[in-house]
Amino acid sequence: MSSLAYLSRQPVELVKGVGDRMGPKLREAGIESVADILLHVPRRYIDRSLIAPMAEVPLDVEATVVGTVEKVSLRRPRRGLTIVEAIVRDDTAFVVATFFNQPFRERQLPEGTEVALSGKMQRFRGRLQMKAPAIDVLAKSGHRATGRIVPVYPTVAGIVSWRFERMIDNALPRARPIDDPLPENLLDRLDLLDRDTAIAAIHQPESSADSDAARRRLVFDELFRLEVALALQKRRQVDDQEGIAHSVEAGLVETYLETLPFAPTNAQLRVIAEVRADMARPHPMHRLLQGDVGSGKTVVAMAALLTGVQGGYQGAVMAPTEVLAEQHYLNLAPMAGRIGVRMGLLTASAPDREAVIAGLADGTIDVVVGTHALIQDGVHFERLGIAVVDEQHRFGVHQRVQLKEKAVDLQPDLLIMTATPIPRTFSMTLYGDLEQSKLDEMPAHRPDVVTELVQPGGGGLEAVYDHIRSQAALGHQSYVVCPLVEDSAKLAAASATAEHERLQAKVFPDLRLGLLHGQMRPDEKRDVMTRFRDGEIDVLVCTTVIEVGVDVAATTVMVIEDADRFGLSQLHQLRGRLARGSGEDPDGGGVCRCYLVADAEGLTDEGEARLGAMVSSNDGFRLAEADLEIRGAGTVFGETQAGATDLRLADVLRDHELLVVARHEAFALVARDPHLTGHPDVEAEVRAMLGDGVEWLFLS
Ligand code: ADP
Ligand code: MG
Repeated sequence: MSSLAYLSRQPVELVKGVGDRMGPKLREAGIESVADILLHVPRRYIDRSLIAPMAEVPLDVEATVVGTVEKVSLRRPRRGLTIVEAIVRDDTAFVVATFFNQPFRERQLPEGTEVALSGKMQRFRGRLQMKAPAIDVLAKSGHRATGRIVPVYPTVAGIVSWRFERMIDNALPRARPIDDPLPENLLDRLDLLDRDTAIAAIHQPESSADSDAARRRLVFDELFRLEVALALQKRRQVDDQEGIAHSVEAGLVETYLETLPFAPTNAQLRVIAEVRADMARPHPMHRLLQGDVGSGKTVVAMAALLTGVQGGYQGAVMAPTEVLAEQHYLNLAPMAGRIGVRMGLLTASAPDREAVIAGLADGTIDVVVGTHALIQDGVHFERLGIAVVDEQHRFGVHQRVQLKEKAVDLQPDLLIMTATPIPRTFSMTLYGDLEQSKLDEMPAHRPDVVTELVQPGGGGLEAVYDHIRSQAALGHQSYVVCPLVEDSAKLAAASATAEHERLQAKVFPDLRLGLLHGQMRPDEKRDVMTRFRDGEIDVLVCTTVIEVGVDVAATTVMVIEDADRFGLSQLHQLRGRLARGSGEDPDGGGVCRCYLVADAEGLTDEGEARLGAMVSSNDGFRLAEADLEIRGAGTVFGETQAGATDLRLADVLRDHELLVVARHEAFALVARDPHLTGHPDVEAEVRAMLGDGVEWLFLS
């Protein structure tokens, strides 16, 4: 009897057939243990009983045939072109498979190799042929793949399918039977195969129903491990921790809401209630607040901060950039002053840094707004009770932990705010340890944003410039966002600087232009933002510095140059800078305009899909879903995002239903057995299989 945790500690070299040559290659590909190789599962299966004989395959439609290489040859008819031809035969006929510029095929396909070819069968001068078919090597020369159903493994580090099949054939009988950490009643209830059967059947199924059921079990396992880790994490940082039971009686929040120049939306009121109920519990809050750009997250943040302040605690807001921190401060400080709350600003370049640091230490500052400067050594709070982290995607998990550590004794409450809409599947994995609140309603009377594509260079752009000019005449302002330069803030700055000069000299000599980019000194940036806010600048030429949170009510136009070079969520964030006013009609018609400048000729399919999505929707959640579809699940949050690393078979989009079930079971298990003392094999497996990922999950 062996467990997956045990097998994950057995080096892959123990498997017969791995040896000195294959071992390093496998390791490089991340297949390091016996468990890893057993979980290297087939990409697909070829069911011989469903494969038509070559002579009977219909022409010109996608089909798969199986046969043995009879002869292989390589020609170089001219410079820059190699052609490998393989004659592949079955009992009924032969087909000539042609590969272009893949010279390695000659060595890969020695005479006698058994292969599957997938492509369109054609007939040419009486012979069957397939041009550039997809090919899977099923067995090496002189051998035949056994079994009716042949597994096809993904090629990894140059190791082809049949080699994996052999290594796994060797490993499987020695590893079996494989222990199941899940209780039988759970398997019955969820109609899951037991693990031993599942691992055997994924490699050697007897039918496609077999392999489907096996896959379902293994996908469940991955999702279950991840959710158990998240449930444990939540337990450790919330339920097992002593936090502050904030008083929600004192009424400061009500006073604040009454001083607002607008009525809070129902969504704001609902989320404020969720936050306050959580803050009143004697455990630290860990809550994620999602709300599209403009949904009014700041009001919620302030309500949370004041809930702490009214009980004598301090609050902190951490923003990702100085511009944003200052803007929060400028927005909040006057309001705070009216209700007797003392606020401070702490950034690297803030004028009275020392005084603010002193005020935090002696408790004379109630609420501080700042950047990373907040989590530096030397910053101490007298009684930190609530921390708000804005625009979470810019911060790592480490930083939210560091901020919390600024608390003296009791764990402060934590509210994490993000404007990047996170589809449910992802919020259940990436942020699965957090409680979640969502602002799903926009403040009323928002002007609409109409988005249009503009071809560069032509009359289209002239019309855009005319529109900017007529808006300026009405006292409205515009952004011109300059292209991203990959990996170089310097080059991006240079291109924005050049565009600023060009527009001022050639296009808008009559208007007041400003420039904002990441390479400017903080005081220069502050100065430009102040003048823009005060209406002294008509057109702000900028880089993506403005992406997050910059908020100027009178802006009605945004031009995004080379828009196809931006990601979809970034485009949405940028566009969200428009229509920030709270109800006034910006240009009579109440319409803001976003122009996406891109050369239709040069667009990639993805670029075109992104721009199309932008034109057709203003809804952040819709766009996030569209983004997932365009880019595929794996890439959206990057590979470095822990939690996703253990997901090899599971695809959170496709396996969404199973994810919901796994999450439910995992949280129920941890609720019943908070430290898994009664389920040691589940715990061992989570630690063993999540590897580095688990460190992250157990961080705070
Ligand atoms: P975000 O969620 O993007 O951070 P903000 O909190 O910055 O949004 O709010 C965007 C704008 O909407 C601000 O100008 C704010 O004053 C305004 N606002 C917030 N809530 C309301 C409301 N309930 N009614 C009208 N305007 C609102
Ligand atoms: Mg905001």
